[in-house]
Amino acid sequence: MRIVALSGGVGGARFVQGVVDVVAASDVTVVGNVGDDLEVLGLHVSPDLDSVLYALSGLNDEGRGWGRAGETWRALETVASLGGEAWFRLGDLDLGLHLVRTAALRAGEPLSRVTARLAAALGIETGVLPATDYRLRTWIATPAGEFHFQEWFVARGHRDDVDAVRFDGSEEAAPAPGVLQALAAADLLLLAPSNPYVSIGPILAVRAVREALGARRVPCVAVSPLIGGRAVKGPADRMLARLAGGTSPRHVADCYAGLIDALVVDEADADDLGGLGDVRPIVTRTLMADPSARRRLAEIALGAVPA
Ligand code: GDP
Ligand code: CA
Repeated sequence: MRIVALSGGVGGARFVQGVVDVVAASDVTVVGNVGDDLEVLGLHVSPDLDSVLYALSGLNDEGRGWGRAGETWRALETVASLGGEAWFRLGDLDLGLHLVRTAALRAGEPLSRVTARLAAALGIETGVLPATDYRLRTWIATPAGEFHFQEWFVARGHRDDVDAVRFDGSEEAAPAPGVLQALAAADLLLLAPSNPYVSIGPILAVRAVREALGARRVPCVAVSPLIGGRAVKGPADRMLARLAGGTSPRHVADCYAGLIDALVVDEADADDLGGLGDVRPIVTRTLMADPSARRRLAEIALGAVPA
């Protein structure tokens, strides 16, 4: 069974880890968000792709949920002490990857090829593709003004309410090589329990990707990032409340209108399944607290496919 999973960073990477525990790693392709990408200290950083790379290679810090285990911060301390830009957390181990990626991009290599090379060097058999090689950047409109995603999320701690999300460059953005092929060859499509607006949204903003999902001939199953109407972490619940008018399963499903056949929701949301329309709810425990919980959730999502 060939599987394509659309994924953001932390929540997506955890879920994808569960998926490759259940099916052969090489049968899975992850299409990752690049709307969060940024240039900082002269380096190109792709935080969501890196969360996936670190999770799939086992280098990730399980507790923190992002970055590498055993990370140290000496380079960033030096940056701060010299008055450099230190608001975006870049660890010493992590910096090594950003150096390699940045050098390759500067030499003209597309992001998708660099990512494939990094994945291979890390021993990852799963396909990891950026949604696009084009420059696509997420902007967040708030009452305090419009901010680049990372300025809103990291520098301002996503404290500002979100009035709108915009994907700069999405009009021109073509899917990265391999994305449409993977979607066409898949037996099952998965939308990870990532933030619908700022993690999955930028992937679906690549028109051909959205069209491929809309025209799918195989099931597409999304996993809700909310438990009891609350995000496990981050602003997804606040965004849904303000932008969609609520945090029940139907509000999550509405983010993917016409694109999904089933929505995996937590037991804590089981009494609030109205308004899902054609989308079949699958109720289970969705907290990925440990490897076995991740694996169980993946099994449920994979099992959601009618034979
Ligand atoms: P980011 O790009 O690093 O912000 O990560 P994602 O967008 O991929 O994931 C963030 C989302 O993951 C948040 O909305 C969380 O609620 C969700 N999430 C994190 N851990 C879990 C979990 O164990 N279960 C579920 N259902 N959602 C989770
Ligand atoms: Ca992200």
